[in-house]
Amino acid sequence: GPVPAGDPLTGLLDRVRADLRDLDDGEPASYIPELGRADPTLFGLSLCTLDGQVYGSGDTAVPFTAQSVSKPFVFALALADQGVEDVLARVGAEPSGEAFNSIRLEPGTGRPPNPMVNAGAIVTSSLVAGTTPDERFARILDGLGAFAGRPLAVDEAVYASERATGDRNRALAYLMHNAGSLTGDVEEQLAVYFRQCSVLVTCDDLAVMHATLAGGGVNPVTGERVVAPRHAQHVLAVMATCGMYDASGQWMLRVGMPAKSGVSGAIGVALPGQFGIGVFSPPLEEKGNSVRGIAACHLLSDQFGLHLMRAT
Ligand code: GLU
Repeated sequence: GPVPAGDPLTGLLDRVRADLRDLDDGEPASYIPELGRADPTLFGLSLCTLDGQVYGSGDTAVPFTAQSVSKPFVFALALADQGVEDVLARVGAEPSGEAFNSIRLEPGTGRPPNPMVNAGAIVTSSLVAGTTPDERFARILDGLGAFAGRPLAVDEAVYASERATGDRNRALAYLMHNAGSLTGDVEEQLAVYFRQCSVLVTCDDLAVMHATLAGGGVNPVTGERVVAPRHAQHVLAVMATCGMYDASGQWMLRVGMPAKSGVSGAIGVALPGQFGIGVFSPPLEEKGNSVRGIAACHLLSDQFGLHLMRAT
């Protein structure tokens, strides 16, 4: 049900946002032209508990494109459809230590390093079940909606913008096709990937989606089982090691929770068995992570002792 006025957890999220009001470093991503139009002052923070209660502060209902925050969830769908062995035969599970759009593939196999970087995500979206690209994207859109607990839609302007300017992703896909790690029609496969990145979500959606992973694959709001517990666990493990681009090690050291960021300024966090968090603030640091999003997660982790490696 609705959160009562004056609720302490909401007050706490309000305080985290207020503490970061003056932090205005960074710029919204502009390499996808349409993302450069984002309002840099937007700032939302949501948390969803495993009993399905959603708490929020600020711009929690403003839609933005999921971008790379879609990647863990599409990885989860690929695991559900193909099983872990077949998925890992096509994409690795090692942090790359390189930027999200890194062009390095495993020598010999042509496998991309992990499903959280662009190359790996292009492969995982090709592994979701469906006999045509349209069927595959329909499964992805439905699956993301099942994680969020509501039907989702595509931002067609961002999709068109990314498709028109996505030559680096196009190059990655052709390299993988040449190496044999990406099969099928490359342009059709890229269209599925670009559409997946352009799915619109809110901060509240991110909190529910990550609570679904934190709860072992059951959406705590709808009660629907979206993926098996083991697959949710695999996804959280890869988020923990690879989710924050080439800042993943630092993130684990300081925040200590599985997370994924996207170039729209979104960060999703899952604390296993506890809750999911969504943060949204478009200005990014140089590695592509939301400046306020990172700071909010640092504050939450420190103030409430949320680090997974904490002994006492
Ligand atoms: N759609 C973006 C790209 O492929 C996603 C990048 C990201 O969020 O890291 O460039």
